[in-house]
Amino acid sequence: MTHPTDGRASSEGRPWSPIFVDGEFRSAHGPQLIPVMEAASGTVMAEVADADSQDVDSAVRSAARALACWAATPPAQRADHLERLQKAMEDRSEDFARTISQEVGTPIRQSRAVQVGNPITITGHIAQTLRTYPFEEHIDSCLVLKEPVGVVAAITPWNYPLQQVVAKVAAALAAGSTVVLKASEVAPLTALMLAELAAETGLPPGVLNVLVGRGPTTGEALVRHPAVDKVSFTGSTRAGRRISELAADTVKPVTLELGGKSASLVLEDANVAMAAKFVVYNAFLNSGQTCTALTRLLVPARLAAEAVEVAVATAAKLPLGDPLDEATRLGPLASQAQQERVRGYIESGLSEGARLVVGGADPPDGRDLGYYVKATIFDQVRSNMTIAQEEIFGPVLSIIAYDSEEEAVAIANGTAYGLAAAVWSADQDRALAFARRLRAGTVEINGGAFSTSAPFGGVKQSGHGREFGRYGIEEFLVPKSLQL
Ligand code: NAD
Repeated sequence: MTHPTDGRASSEGRPWSPIFVDGEFRSAHGPQLIPVMEAASGTVMAEVADADSQDVDSAVRSAARALACWAATPPAQRADHLERLQKAMEDRSEDFARTISQEVGTPIRQSRAVQVGNPITITGHIAQTLRTYPFEEHIDSCLVLKEPVGVVAAITPWNYPLQQVVAKVAAALAAGSTVVLKASEVAPLTALMLAELAAETGLPPGVLNVLVGRGPTTGEALVRHPAVDKVSFTGSTRAGRRISELAADTVKPVTLELGGKSASLVLEDANVAMAAKFVVYNAFLNSGQTCTALTRLLVPARLAAEAVEVAVATAAKLPLGDPLDEATRLGPLASQAQQERVRGYIESGLSEGARLVVGGADPPDGRDLGYYVKATIFDQVRSNMTIAQEEIFGPVLSIIAYDSEEEAVAIANGTAYGLAAAVWSADQDRALAFARRLRAGTVEINGGAFSTSAPFGGVKQSGHGREFGRYGIEEFLVPKSLQL
């Protein structure tokens, strides 16, 4: 693993990363360091500077200085910059993938395909969209200009640390806005690697600035900063609520990509075995640390036994182990806090009367080090149980039996969240009719593929605003009407 360093070492001799401001890595004003833990061993793998409010201020000023020139750069040239960045990510893809496997615990094959493959695709698609995007249109006698929103504060979580960064940064830069990114303090290294590529590929200084720091300090200083024009946040609903409150003081627009408790609705006529198998792979991808994870499997009561049998057999085929081992399908969680949280949810499932059919809260055999949790499946879950209502963010699947399809729709829609959902039916039109009734930003029909170009985002407490492709770029544009 390599990541940017200013050549200094922490007191224990580990390399540590500075902040990226004005096109260069420089030492942070903030004196503290944040340790980055390796998920598989629970040991410190690197340290990064903990940016303080002065660091935030210098990053925001740098983005503000760069704005006019970047906004005036022709879209085709901005697209060229994004394509150079895309190519540089491709060239460093194995380095990115290994770093994410170490920080987050994602099995290396999933890191290559999803954690790094998606950001490369997202950047390419945004660059391509930018080349033909209509930045001007006529309405009545008016010329409508779509102008960059300005300086963007981007705040990202740890579970897909490069994808969430790129979804914001590539779209904001495409729009002609400039960015101060505050990367997750749990998995910050690939954001700093991206900053290094931005410098190497000639992105003008100040267009992208990258800081690492903790939410309540660095994150809040950034959201409050008067020269920030827009906040784009991905993370927990709890933090999203706080960010909305803070942004309201200066009436900043906010995009929120928050948590989920997504349902997979298997209709009477569906192939339940196929659906259960798919849902296990989906729910346990990245050890369940996926905002769109289909963590509730809703099946007709008469098919529940078959669903449980297939789900358990599928989970048994996911080897748990070191994320850098090519055979691993289930790695550790990203942090000790997350491991403890997930184990707490498993205990709550047991105490509230769900039936544990595989897994459990005790550590997997031989895995005392690192943040491992067993693949866990509950059946006989009732919709009002904690494990059926709250986002667990770990490898825990709840199987819920229903008696009527009306009841199933009510259960699917019956949480505070509305990020993703899935419908399974032998009849495509019937599946589509049910999909229209589900309150979610994305609905997979019979295992339909996830797109990194179509609009992505939530409803209800899963947030508002959209990412990816044209819709993603438009989050960072503001229309202006010239009355002619
Ligand atoms: P988190 O909310 O704890 O942190 C996310 C980011 O926000 C981090 O950079 C953190 O430092 C910062 N932050 C925290 N509190 C803040 C505050 N008061 N002010 C400003 N910044 C603050 O979330 P997490 O634990 O890193 O990530 C997991 C969560 O992210 C899950 O709930 C998951 O569902 C959600 N998520 C959503 C999506 C989506 O697109 N909808 C994608 C991935 C993850």
